[in-house]
Amino acid sequence: MEEITHFINGAHVKGTSGRFTEVFNPATGEVQAKVPLATVEEMNDAIAKAAEAQIKWAATNPQRRARVMMKFGALINENMDKLAELVSREHGKTLPDARGDVQRGLEVVEVCMGAPHMLKGEYTDDGGPGIDLYSMRQPLGVVAGITPFNFPAMIPLWKMAPALAAGNAMILKPSERCPSTSLLLAELIMEAGLPEGVLQVVNGDKEAVDAILDNETIQAVGFVGSTPIAQYIYGRAAANGKRAQCFGGAKNHMIIMPDADMDKAADALVGAGFGAAGERCMAISVAVPVGQEAADALIEKLVPRIDKLKVGPYTAGDDVDYGPVITKAAQDRIMGLITSGAEQGATLVRDGRDFSLQGYENGFFVGPTLFDNVTPDMDIYKEEIFGPVLSQVRTDSYEDALKLTMDNPYGNGTAIYTADGDTARDFAHRVNVGMVGINFPIPVPLSYFTFGGWKKSAFGDLNQYGPDAFRFYTKTKTVTARWFSGIKEGGEFNFKAMD
Ligand code: NAD
Repeated sequence: MEEITHFINGAHVKGTSGRFTEVFNPATGEVQAKVPLATVEEMNDAIAKAAEAQIKWAATNPQRRARVMMKFGALINENMDKLAELVSREHGKTLPDARGDVQRGLEVVEVCMGAPHMLKGEYTDDGGPGIDLYSMRQPLGVVAGITPFNFPAMIPLWKMAPALAAGNAMILKPSERCPSTSLLLAELIMEAGLPEGVLQVVNGDKEAVDAILDNETIQAVGFVGSTPIAQYIYGRAAANGKRAQCFGGAKNHMIIMPDADMDKAADALVGAGFGAAGERCMAISVAVPVGQEAADALIEKLVPRIDKLKVGPYTAGDDVDYGPVITKAAQDRIMGLITSGAEQGATLVRDGRDFSLQGYENGFFVGPTLFDNVTPDMDIYKEEIFGPVLSQVRTDSYEDALKLTMDNPYGNGTAIYTADGDTARDFAHRVNVGMVGINFPIPVPLSYFTFGGWKKSAFGDLNQYGPDAFRFYTKTKTVTARWFSGIKEGGEFNFKAMD
C-alpha cells in the first residue's frame, strides 16, 4: 500500500511515529494509502528547521520572493491536470470541480506576485520639526496553516502563498483525509525557487496540531475547518500568545423573493446545494422562499432538476454532477440526519438514502435530498450537514426571511434572489453574514478582495487572502526619526537647509 510522507527541508521524509491513518478512495470505499501521523518531536523538529530557514528567506527582498510566486503560478498551471487528479482521487469530487479547486488557489498565488506592493509601509514627511515617521511590515517568523479536507488545493494555497510571500516560513498541516495535494504543491514551490525548509508539510492529527499550538516558535495559526475545532484552536493558540484566525463551519441561507426569476433561482440552488456533494463551506443548504406561491413554484422547479443530477465517481466523465462524500462516517452521519428530518416532521421530497451505483456499492455516495417545510427547531436545520441535502424553510415575509438568516449562529455566506434593487440593497446592508450574493449563489470573493465569515463561522481577526492576509502574516513597526540638521534654533523647520 502507498505510504504517504511528510515534506521536510525540501525532501519527502517517512514518518517515524509508527502511527498512520487510512486514506480512502471515497468512490469505492477502499483504502488506497496510509498517511503518517507526526509526533510532537517530529513536529518540533520541523518547526526548528523552518525557523533556521526563515532568517535568510526574510532577508530575501520582496521582489525576489514575488518571482518565486510567479514561477510557482506557472508550475501550477502546467501541472493543473495532475493536481486536479490528485484532488479527485482522495476527495472524490469531479475533475472540473477539482480544477476549480486548484484555480481558486492559483488566483491567490497570482495576487501574491504583487507582494512588494502589499508589503509597502507608510511615510509621513515632517510630522514635527525635522521629524519623519515611517512604518514597515515585517514577517512574523514561523507560522502554521491547518487545513480541512474539502478543498485540498485551494485552502493550502490560501494559507501558504501570502505567508511565504510576506517572508515567513510555514508549517502546513493538511487534512489527513486528503494529504497528497499539499505534498505536490510543496514540490512545485521548491522547483519555483523556494529555499529548503521554508515550507514544511507535516501530516498528522490532533497530536500534531496541539504540538503546533504549544510550540513557542510558532507566531501565528491560520486554521480552516469545522466550528468546534476552530473555536478550540483559537482558544489554545491565543492562550499561548499566538495570533490566530480560525474559520469554521456554515449554514448558508438563500432568500428567494416572489419577484425572483424562479428558473434561475432553481438552477442556482441545485448547483450551490448539491455541487461537490454539498461539501463546501459556501454551499447553500437552506432555501428560504418568501410566500407560499414562491415556495410551491420552487419545489416544482427543483424536483425535475434534482432528478436529472448524475452522481458517480470522478472517473465516469465530466458530465458527473457530484461524487461521494469523504468517509463512511460522513455518509452515515448524513443518512442519520436525513432520517431525523423525516422523523421530526419535515416533508422528504427527494430521499438520497436509497442511492446505489452498480460497481460502487461500497462507495460513500448519498443521493440528492430535498426537504420542504423544515422548521428551525429540527436537527437538519440546526446542524451543518455538509452533504447533498437542501432544506426549504417557508417564510411569509422578507423580514421573516431576513430574521431567520440573522438568527442562525453561522454567518459565512448568504444570497438573495430578487428583481428589486431596494430589497437587494437592504439585505446586503443589514444581514450579519460575511459574504453576500445578489442573484449570485456562491459569493466567494475574488482573490484581491478577502474571504471570511461572521458569527460562529470565524474566530479571530482579519480575513483570508487579499490585503488582510498580508496584514495577518506581518507585524507593523513604526519608526519616528529626527535629524537635527533640518531644525533651526527655536524648533522651526529650516527651509534653507534644503537648498
Ligand atoms: P475538521 O475540523 O474536522 O478538520 C480540520 C483540520 O483540523 C484538519 O487538519 C484536522 O486534522 C484538524 N483536526 C480535526 N480534529 C482536531 C482536533 N480534535 N484537534 C486538533 N485538530 C483537529 O474539518 P473538516 O471535516 O476537514 O472540514 C470540513 C469543515 O470545514 C466544515 O465544517 C466546513 O464548513 C469547514 N470549512 C470552512 C471554511 C471557511 O472558510 N469558513 C472553508 C472550508 C471548510
